[in-house]
Amino acid sequence: MKAAVVHGFHTPVSIEDRPIPDVGPHEVLVRVEASGLCHTDIHAANGDWPVKPTPPFIPGHEGVGIIERAGANITRVAVGDRVAVPWLGTACGECEYCITGWETLCEKQQNTGYSIDGGWADYVVADGRYVVKVPEGVDPFEAAPLTCAGVTTYKAVKVSGARSSDLVAIFGIGGLGHLALQYAQIAGARVVAVDLVDEKLEMARELGATYTVNARETDPVEYIKSLGGADAAIALAVNPKSFEQAYGSLKRGGTLVLVGLPAENQMNLPIFETVLNGITVVGSIVGTRADLQEVFELHAAGKTSVRYHTRKLDEVNDAIRDVEQGKIDARLVFDMS
Ligand code: NAD
Ligand code: ZN
Ligand code: ZN
Repeated sequence: MKAAVVHGFHTPVSIEDRPIPDVGPHEVLVRVEASGLCHTDIHAANGDWPVKPTPPFIPGHEGVGIIERAGANITRVAVGDRVAVPWLGTACGECEYCITGWETLCEKQQNTGYSIDGGWADYVVADGRYVVKVPEGVDPFEAAPLTCAGVTTYKAVKVSGARSSDLVAIFGIGGLGHLALQYAQIAGARVVAVDLVDEKLEMARELGATYTVNARETDPVEYIKSLGGADAAIALAVNPKSFEQAYGSLKRGGTLVLVGLPAENQMNLPIFETVLNGITVVGSIVGTRADLQEVFELHAAGKTSVRYHTRKLDEVNDAIRDVEQGKIDARLVFDMS
């Protein structure tokens, strides 16, 4: 099978021929149809984070495809099903997090495309208990971005507590942001979208954002304060300064949700203002299998719109460069057909 393999940080990804992997009793073999490029894959290939993957590895945690083989213990899904293979590759199923709806915090979890091989390949092996069925009628190229960008921002909006009459600021209108603003609106909130690229802000307006700010030209803190301040701000841009602006844009009692994971791992958080203004700061990591199922159901019901461009896996290095340079509106999805 063809696979994109990372052999070292900050070196080009190589396209290789690999044997099709075997499945264990709890595993399924998925023939990948569509596979998204999340900014996390770029962080993985660059070794940006304190906990690093071990090369060689195959990135990709937005793989969607058809189950071709299923291990003896597989009951939730079957050969022929279309499934998504998300970041939460597997978890222990028994710890206090797993049994209280917080499997995404399990200390024994394995992450697809990071600690175990992912979906930038013709085939991926996945734990059949952690894949999520893609409903009938949902296009695999739309399902792919929903598998991480969708579920992550759906959860982040839940965590933000956004509701009708709220103003929610979305910082970074990329793969994640273009869906975040839709989930905030589904929750009833008005959205102010912040990015550095005009085309992305135009897309945000097309998707319903009430206000947009180009942070290269206008101070987003001043602008959002002039609207009365944000009830919640969701930080998705790969830049700590943008996290500080998201914090600064909040009104009293507001909530800052940290989601983006820039290589520079620090932001300034003023203690006095946080205390006196009653600010909540919360981290949010992807979402559970149940969250992803809800994301797919919303999409099947026509409530979300996924923007994507396709590339062939052979173009992986150009694809990474284009995402890094902010040239891709929303998501880039590898066409594995
Ligand atoms: P992306 O590259 O598609 O989008 C990032 C967007 O931020 C781009 O539109 C870019 O123009 C914009 N941007 C960059 N600098 C900015 C600034 N200073 N101010 C405003 N906008 C700015 O990336 P993505 O795939 O949407 O991922 C975003 C981040 O979220 C990454 O760090 C990724 O690793 C992280 N992530 C976190 C989780 C989680 O569970 N917490 C899940 C997936 C991705
Ligand atoms: Zn991701
Ligand atoms: Zn667990």
